[in-house]
Amino acid sequence: MTPPRKLHIKSYGCQMNVYDAQRMVDTLAPEGFVETASVDDADLVILNTCHIREKASEKVYSELGRLRVAKDEAARHGRQMSIAVAGCVAQAEGDEIIRRAPVVDVVVGPQSYHHLPQLLARAKSHGRALETEFPVDDKFGFLAPPKPDAIRARGISSFVTVQEGCDKFCTFCVVPYTRGAEVSRPVARIVDDVLRLADNGVREITLIGQNVNAYHGEGPDGRIWSLGALLHRLAGIPGIVRLRYSTSHPRDVDETLIEAHRDLTALMPFVHLPVQSGSDRILAAMNRRHSVADYRRVIDRFRDARQDIAFSSDFIVGFPGETEEDFVATLALVTQIGYAGAYSFKYSPRPGTPAADMQETVSAADMDERLVRLQELIDSQQSAFNVATIGNTVNVLFERTARNPGQIVGRTAYLQPAHVMASTDIIGQVLPVTIASLERYSLLGELAPAVDAQSVFSHLTHSSQMITGA
Ligand code: SAM
Ligand code: SF4
Repeated sequence: MTPPRKLHIKSYGCQMNVYDAQRMVDTLAPEGFVETASVDDADLVILNTCHIREKASEKVYSELGRLRVAKDEAARHGRQMSIAVAGCVAQAEGDEIIRRAPVVDVVVGPQSYHHLPQLLARAKSHGRALETEFPVDDKFGFLAPPKPDAIRARGISSFVTVQEGCDKFCTFCVVPYTRGAEVSRPVARIVDDVLRLADNGVREITLIGQNVNAYHGEGPDGRIWSLGALLHRLAGIPGIVRLRYSTSHPRDVDETLIEAHRDLTALMPFVHLPVQSGSDRILAAMNRRHSVADYRRVIDRFRDARQDIAFSSDFIVGFPGETEEDFVATLALVTQIGYAGAYSFKYSPRPGTPAADMQETVSAADMDERLVRLQELIDSQQSAFNVATIGNTVNVLFERTARNPGQIVGRTAYLQPAHVMASTDIIGQVLPVTIASLERYSLLGELAPAVDAQSVFSHLTHSSQMITGA
């Protein structure tokens, strides 16, 4: 029997890339590859790249410089190391990578991972291989499913891609160019994936897509299903106790999604709903196709359906033309909504996007200063949200042993890490925990006899008052 070949994947960027990395491992497993944590003993190294913000490609080239040394070292010991570049930088700059980095054997765009075995074979016979087309075949139909032992090793929480690509064309964003047009997977395929995951111990599913709530997959009844309908179907799968989805666009929040939050206890009351800016002028320049008032109405609809719901968001500061007044409007929106957390980024021009041709008007110093002010506000809201949990009893899904001996760590409905002293038997269970204290972003507590739904609710009411200062 030939010994297994070793595969090392380094992934950058979003949750879609984390998921894609796992699917590449699954697809290469039948070819005899097993994962290794070390570059040095790898037979194949894959860089799964991200192109969303600045310096992405420079990072790839400097990583390739390091890999060249590792590849030469392997060759000195009589071993052949292959190097592949995958992900959105591969898609956007494939030819350039081939030209600039002779160390690379394979360049593969995100829509072609299912062709990896053939590309590796082609690289072996022809020297190098590049595939960055958007193929007509359905990638998901060809990617090998994970083996039961791989699912178990990955833990009780899993991502499942339900939708890929984006047709929104926000003026700052490369996703429509690197991931292509919006495509939704059929319901039956997603159900098969979730059944397989649940059978092998997965308890929590996060449905992912660049624009997940634009989901419109073919249902088993031949009709087009919305994300809300899909969530209803998945909530009925035995073993699945928590459902989440990310990332949503405010324009695509339909009534079925609101109803899913009202009706499904498995659907967690925590929604990532990026808004990017609190200024209508900037939202229009970004081509977000909604106003600040539209966004606030969407938030209100969620809150009416489920009172314990909390939100996170994404913000960009320093978009071309953003004035101090526009930025202050963003701070005002954050104050009005009251987030449990949020990501904020400095605007970075992405080659090929419409915004890259707009004149940048915000100086680097102003951008830095705005980012600090926004992050301070978001941090204070996040701390208030976490502090409000202390003294309450909240449900925690336990995931794994913690670094501290005897401790088990899990997550609350709002993805806050929570630690208790307990036996490993509780891993995979949702149990009530009375929160005693907060250490940075982690909650510490004790297992409680039974959860008091009212106390969870009062914590939320309390925390949103603390966040918004109401
Ligand atoms: N689809 C999601 C949405 O509609 O907001 C998010 C997709 S993107 C992968 C994640 C985040 O990266 C965006 O929400 C945005 O805040 C940020 N981002 C994207 N392009 C950017 C750019 N050119 N400069 C700075 N931040 C950017
Ligand atoms: Fe990018 Fe999201 Fe806009 Fe699509 S909706 S273009 S993924 S920011």
